[in-house]
Amino acid sequence: MISHLRKNEHLNKEMQVFDTIKELQAAISIQKGTSKKVGFVPTMGALHKGHLSLVELALKENEVVVVSIFVNPTQFNNPDDLKNYPRTLESDLELLKDLSPDFVFAPAVDEIYPAKGIVKPAVNLGLLEKTMEGKHRPCHFNGVVQVVARLFEIVQPDKAYFGSKDFQQLAVIKEMTRQLKLPIEIASGETIRDADGLAMSSRNVLLSAEQRSEASGISKALFYIRDNWKVKSAAELCSEAIRRIEKNGLMKVEYLELADSNTLETIHSFDQSPVPRIFTAVQVGKVRLIDNIGIIKGDD
Ligand code: AMP
Repeated sequence: MISHLRKNEHLNKEMQVFDTIKELQAAISIQKGTSKKVGFVPTMGALHKGHLSLVELALKENEVVVVSIFVNPTQFNNPDDLKNYPRTLESDLELLKDLSPDFVFAPAVDEIYPAKGIVKPAVNLGLLEKTMEGKHRPCHFNGVVQVVARLFEIVQPDKAYFGSKDFQQLAVIKEMTRQLKLPIEIASGETIRDADGLAMSSRNVLLSAEQRSEASGISKALFYIRDNWKVKSAAELCSEAIRRIEKNGLMKVEYLELADSNTLETIHSFDQSPVPRIFTAVQVGKVRLIDNIGIIKGDD
């Protein structure tokens, strides 16, 4: 049991940290009373400003805020990725204390996945698990659905917050919530980037200095497509973007493709969708990074 209090003297607010479902639920129900709105931000920890922006949003829009920190084994299709995933609970709690959400839930694996097993949510993801991340990380979204459904069941939030950085995951969660008819509003936050454009990610700390500097080329290539979509064909822009990302031999593009933001169906030209979006996954040494950016039409 790690139930403890962290007090933010400046805000004069207390943040309670739990690792058991029972204690978390008891504390939420006291705090919530009969009618307070509960906002929820699920994370895998190694927190950065991207996560914190979601917590800030949740704090603005809800009376009670819960943040979870749980590295979910079922969504990792690569055992080394799971093993190497950064785990920094103490510094995460320090970062969260500055914002002071009401509750942090940091359970062990067997609290979420007890030996007796849990009911697997019956969700059919269709295209969402066959394209891009779904195609390249088999079973990844099954694991995401499993853990988010479980966390939703535990926390019972009114509103839950996810980043557009993981745009396909956001679509998966919306679809899951719809199919399971959960009374939870799914909200999204914009992608927070470092000054050089690299999308913040917990995995960025695993990059060497050289890889980190090279990795800014990923978002630059996506911005290049966004800035030139009116003057060049999609095929030309995508192959030039891949060439730019791979030019120094330090990064390898796993996929870079255009899709409709609403359906995630692949498109091959910008006129095939009112809301085209560019998605990529790039291997930087042993670290796999993803990013996406929307193309805004009708801005002339
Ligand atoms: P993770 O800890 O990577 O599972 O992420 C937890 C939540 O934070 C997910 O909803 C992510 O989409 C979101 N997130 C991760 N990186 C960013 C970012 N750079 N900007 C905004 N949200 C992010």
